[in-house]
Amino acid sequence: MTEKTVQAYVNDGRWLARCPDCNGANPVKRGELMVCGHMSCFPGLNAMAQRIKPGLEKLPPSKWLFVNVPDLAERELTRQEAIKRGKAYEVEFPPEKEQQAIDKALRPRPVHAMHWQPGQTVKELTDLNKEMGVS
Ligand SMILES: [Zn+2]
Repeated sequence: MTEKTVQAYVNDGRWLARCPDCNGANPVKRGELMVCGHMSCFPGLNAMAQRIKPGLEKLPPSKWLFVNVPDLAERELTRQEAIKRGKAYEVEFPPEKEQQAIDKALRPRPVHAMHWQPGQTVKELTDLNKEMGVS
């Protein structure tokens, strides 16, 4: 693990990793760099834009309603800026087969009990499942 690597873990059924700068948890995906979207780091990663609610385009503008959509252009600019500043982190996941086994072991649990920490084995998870009465 280098200083440019963060470790994935599971909390409430989500794969997350902590930002080395603000300690905020960020959703992560295998094969993608993590850029922190928290306010003190790169809030632009959560940028939203508005578009006319689909179906209302032909009405006069006074009748338009708007919906929020991700501002993909702003988000990409933010991501590039983070990479340029060395603030995009590799995410260390367990090997793919083990990750799938972890997801499978957690699936029977209620979402608030779906947790995994690096180093925890699949057997430990399934043993816990038995104690919890789920499997
Ligand atoms: Zn951060």
